[in-house]
Amino acid sequence: MTSTRPALVSTRVTDPSEFDVAVVGAGVVGCAIARRLAKAGASVVILDRAADVGDGTSKANTAILHTGFDTVPGSLESRLVARGHDLLARYADAAGIAVERTGALLVAWDDEQEAALAGLATKAIANGCTEAAVLDATEVRRREPNLGDGARSGLLVPDEWVIDPWSVTLAFATEAVSAGAVLTLSTPVLELSATNDGHEIRVPHGTVRARWLINSAGLGADLIDRMLGYDDFTVTPRRGQLIVFDTFARSLLTHILLPVPTEQTKGVLVSPTTWGNVLLGPTAEDLEDRTDTGTTAEGLAALLAAGERILPALVHEEVTATYAGLRAATEHRDYQIRLHEDRSYVTVGGIRSTGLTASMAIAEHVAGLLAEAGARWSRPVVDVGVPVMPPLGELQVRPLQNASRIAEDPAYGTPLCHCEQVSRGEVRDACHAVVPATDLGGVRRRTRAMNGRCQGFYCGAAVLALVADETDTDPAVLARVTP
Ligand SMILES: Cc1cc2nc3c(=O)[nH]c(=O)nc-3n(C[C@H](O)[C@H](O)[C@H](O)COP(=O)(O)OP(=O)(O)OC[C@H]3O[C@@H](n4cnc5c(N)ncnc54)[C@H](O)[C@@H]3O)c2cc1C
Repeated sequence: MTSTRPALVSTRVTDPSEFDVAVVGAGVVGCAIARRLAKAGASVVILDRAADVGDGTSKANTAILHTGFDTVPGSLESRLVARGHDLLARYADAAGIAVERTGALLVAWDDEQEAALAGLATKAIANGCTEAAVLDATEVRRREPNLGDGARSGLLVPDEWVIDPWSVTLAFATEAVSAGAVLTLSTPVLELSATNDGHEIRVPHGTVRARWLINSAGLGADLIDRMLGYDDFTVTPRRGQLIVFDTFARSLLTHILLPVPTEQTKGVLVSPTTWGNVLLGPTAEDLEDRTDTGTTAEGLAALLAAGERILPALVHEEVTATYAGLRAATEHRDYQIRLHEDRSYVTVGGIRSTGLTASMAIAEHVAGLLAEAGARWSRPVVDVGVPVMPPLGELQVRPLQNASRIAEDPAYGTPLCHCEQVSRGEVRDACHAVVPATDLGGVRRRTRAMNGRCQGFYCGAAVLALVADETDTDPAVLARVTP
């Protein structure tokens, strides 16, 4: 890469000026693809306009490890979600990423929904969820005694689980970088042009050359496609607003509580998180603005009304935070993954509301397409091992509870964020990780610091001072970056 300014994260490889593969987008999908290809021996550069990995849709979802029970049987999404569920469950286990095997209970509240359950059960079984079972009202209430009045029956899907979503992207990026990938953040792709044997990618501070281009730009995937002259799909951001309830609400439910889905959306759910909170959401609003991740009074009010029906006691619990994410919806119902062999180009678009789950299977699929196209890599296969991620799950042993870690390093025994039980040692480590935090949002996603009921009111200044010190950054500059 020719550059007049150093990239934010590791540019240990300043030459090659030409890579085997450029991956545009460092969300969960792009990082999964980069990991897979770097391990296979490709020299990979990952380009993202954001200042951190997973800073797009991947940081704001409902964190469910889906089975794909309600996907269209035979679709690419159905196949990749089912495969991705298994791959990611195994990977999370190896990397120490929190997963809670809660199961999901889809609740029918009226005649129409009840009538739909049998069809959904058949679809679930066709999608490989052979343990899916219809439950009567008594069994539904026995399992979830805090449900609102009027639950008629339910569909149990035992393999729908919750996962720590932030650590997934971070683990993929960490493994990719450890395997030699160059992660180049704060680097929007501005222009693409064809060379004799690949691509020239113009970024603000130089030009990157790559033989193959993988477009995993999420909400911007259609725009990258158009830079190359394709017009296969248009992204319409579908906003999902969510409410996070404090950990006191966690005892109100056992399963992920799902509504009967419609064509438009999976609907409003209530779900535990691996951090011990409860989520209520998301909304489904088609927008034009690809950056509008704001929440609205109407959206939150609609969620509370839906939540009160599902779990009446929930709406009396404390709200810790609200947020919104944008699904990369398109006019098509399936993923838009296409190999353009003549252009050495793969589009990975339209990864709507299941991309966290499907990420590893998407990467496997893309690697398969490249192999079929005869792509060859310039390096040997490399096995750097699965990275061990910080234990962020509420049911995991956190450093402040771990006597032997504290004995080795007292910084793990010094609380910094009391709400979320985060130590100084963890925040310090986040600043020096293979893919380090460079702002307070990055610290939140790597440690949980400032995510609790005070939202950083008490610990924010101490976290800021420590991060400024560890990263040698002016605290005033850090403070200006919204976490
Ligand atoms: C409300 C909501 C709930 C969801 N719930 C779930 C769930 O429970 N389970 C599940 O599996 N999935 C869920 N999803 C879907 C999942 O979050 C997404 O499918 C997934 O995060 C998509 O990842 P991605 O890498 O494709 O996109 P992103 O994470 O958006 O990454 C794309 C990246 O491309 C970068 N980029 C774009 N244009 C350019 C450019 N020109 N130059 C450089 N970089 C660029 C962006 O900065 C971004 O970082 C949900 C989504 C939403 C919104």
